Amino acid sequence: MTNIAIVGAGLSGAVLARELAESGYHPRVFDNRSHVAGNCHTERDHESGVMVHKYGPHIFHTDNERVWQYLNRFTKFMPYTNRVKTTSQGQVFSLPINLHTINQFFGKTFSPSEAKDFLESQADLTIEDPQTFEEQALRFVGPDLYEAFFKGYTQKQWGCSPTKLPSSILKRLPVRFNYDDNYFFHRYQGMPKDGYTAMIEKILDHENIDVNLEYYFNREQSTQFDHVFYSGPIDGYFNFQLGRLGYRTLDFKEIRAEGDYQGCAVMNYGDESVPYTRIAEHKYFSPWEEHNKSICFAEYSRECEEGGIPYYPIRLIEEQEMLKQYVELANSEQKVSFVGRLGTYRYLDMDVTIDEALSAAEQFISLRQSNQSIPAFFVTPQ
Ligand SMILES: Cc1cc2nc3c(=O)[nH]c(=O)nc-3n(C[C@H](O)[C@H](O)[C@H](O)COP(=O)(O)OP(=O)(O)OC[C@H]3O[C@@H](n4cnc5c(N)ncnc54)[C@H](O)[C@@H]3O)c2cc1C
Repeated sequence: MTNIAIVGAGLSGAVLARELAESGYHPRVFDNRSHVAGNCHTERDHESGVMVHKYGPHIFHTDNERVWQYLNRFTKFMPYTNRVKTTSQGQVFSLPINLHTINQFFGKTFSPSEAKDFLESQADLTIEDPQTFEEQALRFVGPDLYEAFFKGYTQKQWGCSPTKLPSSILKRLPVRFNYDDNYFFHRYQGMPKDGYTAMIEKILDHENIDVNLEYYFNREQSTQFDHVFYSGPIDGYFNFQLGRLGYRTLDFKEIRAEGDYQGCAVMNYGDESVPYTRIAEHKYFSPWEEHNKSICFAEYSRECEEGGIPYYPIRLIEEQEMLKQYVELANSEQKVSFVGRLGTYRYLDMDVTIDEALSAAEQFISLRQSNQSIPAFFVTPQ
């Protein structure tokens, strides 16, 4: 029997395990945490009864039909539309910046085409080839909207000035010239009725899958298996021998309230003087439930130190250089494939994570059938 280890019981590990189990393999899944679901983990807060997203708010959204159909085998999705507000310069605005935001911010009643012309008059067109985040934002929206909605938030989120961040972070014009405040453009959007953990437990619920929690898997153990899928941090697998890849981590400060605390799921804070980036009121993530009490979390972003939970990869030039070297090491490792957001050091939305795990399982099964070697990466990080 082919002996397979899957490291990590998050979405990557769970989907891989399920696909392999359904093809007759008997994968063993290991996770150092006391629960499955990785960073998507949800649990009920005893005091309020609210379903809490333990590692930060997760909203499922996708255009990928295969992923949507796949997940619907394991959970009922409840309708959910992500709408975000921001407090900035003493007022509350709607995000992403839309016609309402522009009219409120500038005290106008612009039509879509008037707003477009107006913003063009604000944009700094002297910046021909924007290199930094700040230049890109100034070119798109001009100084006032940049100050109110991007500058402070970005500084807090990434811990450095937007003049140090690459323009690629702000790829598209972050403005809508209508009143649409749905945060996502995707066809499908929703929340799993009983939370993400119940959904992932169901994915893992197969007689061929053996789940081992509170089990830290290290490189030496790889030799005991015919193949390992590793969804932990790639630098951690190699014991950080080339250094640590930079991540931002989050601290969550709990806020409890009677009734309603802020009236919406997510309130961003654009001013640099407010130390947190946003407050999430978790009962709003399950709008079909009713709760008298509320629980919220204020998010503080900081550099991830040794022992911290890695959240957002910082992909600046130094990290990309180090990543290249880890990729070389990984390619010379035998019988290990690196998958998922940590294994490939990329920010991946849940739908992309699932799609990649489905494809990795498909490729693995077909390569094994034809006795071919299994690559270290199914998607090579760059
Ligand atoms: C703050 C935040 C908000 C997000 N919000 C959204 C959202 O709204 N919508 C969306 O689509 N996506 C969102 N995402 C992305 C989503 O979290 C990821 O797509 C998903 O978690 C990736 O799953 P994964 O299995 O690759 O990684 P993870 O969920 O990180 O799972 C990896 C697991 O492996 C375990 N592990 C690591 N190393 C070892 C080891 N050596 N031994 C044993 N176990 C190990 C870890 O403890 C973890 O449980 C968000 C991400 C963050 C950081």
